[in-house]
Amino acid sequence: MTTASFAIPSTLARWLDQRRQMFIGGHMVDAAGGEQLDVFNPADASQLARVPLGNADDIDLAVTAARTAFKTWRHSRPNRREKLLLDLADALEARADEFALLETLDNGKPLTFSRHMDLALAIDFLRYTAGWATKIEGRSMTPSMPAVPDGHRLVAYTRREPVGVVGAIIPWNFPLLMAVWKVAPALAAGCCIVLKPAEDTPLSALMLAELADQVGFPPGTLNVVTGLGHDAGAALAAHPGINKIAFTGSTQVGKLIAKAAVENMTRTTLELGGKSPVMVLRDANLEAAAAGAAQAIFFNQGQVCTAGSRIYVHEDVHDRFVEHLVKQAKALTLAPGTEADSTLGPLVSAKQQRRVLAYIDSARQQGGVIATGGGTGPDGGYFVEPTVITGLAQESRCVQEEIFGPVVVVQTFRDLDELVALANDSPYGLAASLWSNDLTAVNRLIPEIEAGSVWVNGHNLLDPCMPFGGFKQSGIGREMGDSLVTHYTEEKSVVMLV
Ligand code: ADP
Repeated sequence: MTTASFAIPSTLARWLDQRRQMFIGGHMVDAAGGEQLDVFNPADASQLARVPLGNADDIDLAVTAARTAFKTWRHSRPNRREKLLLDLADALEARADEFALLETLDNGKPLTFSRHMDLALAIDFLRYTAGWATKIEGRSMTPSMPAVPDGHRLVAYTRREPVGVVGAIIPWNFPLLMAVWKVAPALAAGCCIVLKPAEDTPLSALMLAELADQVGFPPGTLNVVTGLGHDAGAALAAHPGINKIAFTGSTQVGKLIAKAAVENMTRTTLELGGKSPVMVLRDANLEAAAAGAAQAIFFNQGQVCTAGSRIYVHEDVHDRFVEHLVKQAKALTLAPGTEADSTLGPLVSAKQQRRVLAYIDSARQQGGVIATGGGTGPDGGYFVEPTVITGLAQESRCVQEEIFGPVVVVQTFRDLDELVALANDSPYGLAASLWSNDLTAVNRLIPEIEAGSVWVNGHNLLDPCMPFGGFKQSGIGREMGDSLVTHYTEEKSVVMLV
C-alpha cells in the first residue's frame, strides 16, 4: 500500500487494509449499526482505513462491559496494575516506530515528531503513571466529637477509592498521547474506561487497545468506541453508567459535555482551548526568544492547546524580534510528514485548513500585515504556511480566538502593567511563557498571569510530574502529577467507634 510517494511497511499496510473493529469487553466488534467511517491521510487526502461508526448502542455495550470489569478490577492489587502499565509501556516502546508512522499517516505530523515527541511522551507518561498505582493513600485523623461513650474511642481515616467507570473523549492533535493521558490514570487508579477517540484520528487508539489486550489487561477494563462526537461522544457524556468524564478538546464542546454530565453528577475534568501568550521582555535574548516562540506556535502545525499564538514583545525590540521570527518561519519545510525533511506537516483535515485560512483572511480584513506565510502548501494535502501577522488590534479575531493552526500574531507592550493587562485579556488561561533574565520582572509577572502553566525561557515545558490544566475557560481540573489521586478517586471518610 502506498500513499503519495511513500511506501508503508507491509505489516502496517496489512493492519490498515483489514476491516478495523472497535474494542469492547475484550472483543473486536463491528458497530451495532454495521456502519463505517472513512479515515483519511491529510497529506494527500487519500483514504487510509475504515473504522466502525459507533453510536449510542455501542457506547451502551462498552459501558456495560466496563461496569462488569470494574467489579473485580477495582479490587485488583495495585502492583498488578502498575506492572500491567509498565508492560504496556514496554510493548509500546517495542513497536514505537510502527505507532509513530500510524500517527503521522492519520494526523499528518512529521514522523520525527511522532516518534520523538508523541511516542516518547506517551511511553514516559505510562511509566510515570504506573508508579502512582501503588502510591494512592488515605489519611488518618483524630476527631474531637463529644458524644463518645465512656471507655470508647474513635478510629477515623480516609480511603481513596476508584471513581468508577471513566468516559474519555479526546481530540485529534495528539491522538495516542491524549489516549494515554486518560487511559493510564484511569487504569492505575483501579477505574475502567470507555475511550472515544476523535473521528479524524481513531487509529492509534485502536492499536493501543490491541496492545493492552496482549499485555494482559482484563476484558472490559479498556474499551474503545470509534464514532462521531455529536453521536457516540454525546452518548458517552450523558450515560448514567459513567462516573467521570475526562475530556480534552474545544471549549465549545467542553461546555456541552459538562452540561450533559451534570445531569448525572458525573465528575468531569475538562482540558479545553487556549490562546497562550508568549511575552518577550526588553532584556530577552531575541534570537533565542524568536526560536522559542517559533517552536511554541509552529510545533504540531500549531494544533496544540498550549500553542503560543499571541506574542507580546517590548516595543523597543519589536522589529528586530519579528525579523528573527520570520527567519525561523521561513526555515521550516512544509512537506508530508513521511518525508524526511518535513518540519511542518499538513493540518489534520480539509475543515481545519479552511478554518485556519479563514482566520488569516480575517486578519487581512482587520488591518493585519502578513509578515510571512498566509498561503497553503504542497498540492493535495491540507497544508497552511507558517504565518506571522503584525499590526492587529487586541480585539481582532486572531488575537482573541483560538485558531489551532500555524498562525501567530505579534503585538507590542510598553510596561509590565500593560503586558499583564494584554496577556490576561482573553477568555482562556491555559499557559503562558516569559522570555527574560530579569528576575525581578519575571517574579512580579508570574503571580499576575492567569494561566495554569507559566514557563520561563521556554514554552511547552510539560512533564508528567507537573500538574497541567487551565484557568478560566481553558478548563476544569488538572491532569498529570498527583491529579490521578484527586480526579480518578473518590475520598471516603471512615469513622469507627471502638
Ligand atoms: P476540535 O475542535 O479539536 O475538533 P472538538 O472539541 O470538536 O475538538 O472534539 C474533541 C472531541 O470531542 C472529539 O473526540 C469529538 O468527536 C468530540 N465531540 C465533538 N462534539 C461532541 C459532543 N457534542 N459531545 C461529545 N463529544 C463531542
